[in-house]
Amino acid sequence: MKAAVVTKDHGVDIQDKKLRPLQYGEALLSMEFCGVCHTDLHVKEGHFGDVTGTTLGHEGIGIVKEVYSGVTSLKVGDRASVAWFFQGCGHCEYCNSGNETLCRNVKNAGYSVDGGMAQECIVVADYAVKVPDNLDPAAASSITCAGVTTYKAVKVSEIKPGQWIAIYGLGGLGNLALQYAKNVFNAKVVAIDVNESQLELAKSMGADLVINPIQEDAAKIMQEKCGGAHAAVVTAVARSAFNAAVDCLRAGGRLVAVGLPPESMDLNIPRLVLDGIQVVGSLVGTREDLKEAFQFAAEGKVVPKVTKRPLKDINAIFTEMEQGKITGRMVIDLAMS
Ligand SMILES: [Zn+2]
Ligand SMILES: [Zn+2]
Repeated sequence: MKAAVVTKDHGVDIQDKKLRPLQYGEALLSMEFCGVCHTDLHVKEGHFGDVTGTTLGHEGIGIVKEVYSGVTSLKVGDRASVAWFFQGCGHCEYCNSGNETLCRNVKNAGYSVDGGMAQECIVVADYAVKVPDNLDPAAASSITCAGVTTYKAVKVSEIKPGQWIAIYGLGGLGNLALQYAKNVFNAKVVAIDVNESQLELAKSMGADLVINPIQEDAAKIMQEKCGGAHAAVVTAVARSAFNAAVDCLRAGGRLVAVGLPPESMDLNIPRLVLDGIQVVGSLVGTREDLKEAFQFAAEGKVVPKVTKRPLKDINAIFTEMEQGKITGRMVIDLAMS
């Protein structure tokens, strides 16, 4: 079967790969779609260590083709996900306290194990989340990483209906954060991005306020219009966005960090202490979070913007990603040639 495999020189090659036989508790998925995430770019570039020979992909959706013994949660014909949180150890303090994504012995699809950017993928059945029947599979692929990550981040922000949440960065993650915040949590949303086309998209998705920080002072506008945001979710991959997000918060506000710029952020200690500012990181989501994120998408509350592409386009997609040319999500359609 064909798979998008990381090469030694940090490229991706479409190779013929033979999968090992299934083991206890595993299922084989015939892949339909797999979204391309910014994390895949980091993985293939070797930023998280050398993964030569690994199949990429952690936004995979496929149909169960075969199950081995020990599988009770999936049956042949079910549609299921291949997510970044591929498997936890199942018995540590994190796995047993609703924080399984923090498991120290976690396996990640398309990084520490072969992922879903292939015609077939082996999953641990208990960790592959079932996709609701009425959810479009290409949309589901986008929910598997971008969707659940932003749904979880908005959850972690503890935003309440009617409160103001600022979303920094309206790309593949941000536009989903906006929809979850608005349509599921009933919050008022401020969209902040340096890219006008992303702001247009945000407006069309119902953002209550859009700000381009290159042209305007976002913190000042927010303090004037709403007394500062109750929470901010930062999906941007720029240190400046993290620093700016602290300034836009009202006292007691909470910043949720999702984007991964490689630097440190500035935190003014008096601001932190005197205004009771909270800063917290949020990493993808648990299986339960993914189940919820799928359900809200199946109900039409969140509609990912996806563009289907053939597997052979993978290197071109990474180039477009590096050039910042992508709006919404590029999704590999395994049926497309
Ligand atoms: Zn991802
Ligand atoms: Zn664990």
